[in-house]
Amino acid sequence: MEPFQVHFLGCGAAQPTTTHRPASQVINFRNKLFMIDCGEGTQIQFRKSHLKSSRLNQIFISHLHADHCIGLVGLLATQNLMQRTAQMHIYSPAGLERLMRPQLDFFCSPSSFEVVFHEFQTKTSSVIYEDRSLRVTTIPLKHRMPDCGFRFDELSISRHINPQMCAFYDVPRYWFDRLRSGEDYVTSTGDIIPVERLTSASRKARSYAYVSDTIYLPKIVPLISGVDVLYHESTFSDEFALRAKKVCHSTARQAGTIAKDAKVGLLALGHYSARHNNKEEVLLDEAREVFQDTILSWENSYIDIGKTPILNTFKSKQIETTPSQLLSVLDPPQSYTRSAEE
Ligand SMILES: [Zn+2]
Ligand SMILES: [Zn+2]
Repeated sequence: MEPFQVHFLGCGAAQPTTTHRPASQVINFRNKLFMIDCGEGTQIQFRKSHLKSSRLNQIFISHLHADHCIGLVGLLATQNLMQRTAQMHIYSPAGLERLMRPQLDFFCSPSSFEVVFHEFQTKTSSVIYEDRSLRVTTIPLKHRMPDCGFRFDELSISRHINPQMCAFYDVPRYWFDRLRSGEDYVTSTGDIIPVERLTSASRKARSYAYVSDTIYLPKIVPLISGVDVLYHESTFSDEFALRAKKVCHSTARQAGTIAKDAKVGLLALGHYSARHNNKEEVLLDEAREVFQDTILSWENSYIDIGKTPILNTFKSKQIETTPSQLLSVLDPPQSYTRSAEE
């Protein structure tokens, strides 16, 4: 099956720790890369992921808090050093281009490539990217500034040829690729043979939703309903539920509730407050009390959507989805002195 992987580059909240980096993920969809958020140091994390930056042409920024976009300048400056020529498309709420242009003019001039900014509105859900095989839709969120999550939907799935039926209808071989992509067969006399008669559906389309910083927001449930994997921010444990509400973040239990109500396949937690550093299993336990199929996202690991077991590491070790073994990482967690804010 063609890849649909979610690579976790940064799983911490705004306050960096020696364990967690600020928000960023890369989706490897059929070997095309799509970045979501780009906190400080993302380019280093990206390099550790062993993904090719030449395959990255689209970046989606959920909101303009520093921990979600301040890594862009470094990433783009390095692309310029590498003499990139392909356009880089960046999708974000209003304001990013005004912020970035002076920095790009200063650090990336002359530039070997063009950066194209696309602003999206954050009040209602809309399609912001679509090609033949993938659609990206926004998920409006409620935070301390305009903010959206993103839903990724696989569109075209190759169908299985039924050789007996194709022989029966005398379908020439050169037509098989069109059948696989879902076209009906038109005979030399103009009769239409429905593709369903000549092929069978191979599998269900895969989907992923990224819910960035947000207060607990049940109204997003219909927008993420039934996705295979949901990433939902889970900055705090129950103990800090009041603070979560005050600063427009969610608890792990609230993330679990959203996952349960949306009937998703798997929930990945992330955006951990520095106060939970090296105690992330508290978040996991609280989310699992509501929604059992929950994991902790972790830097330098990835999820392979549509494969079992769903969790793998860069070392291709097969991991059981139990808390202690959840994710094996290249950089083991280090000791750290916690700080106060998110
Ligand atoms: Zn954040
Ligand atoms: Zn934020």
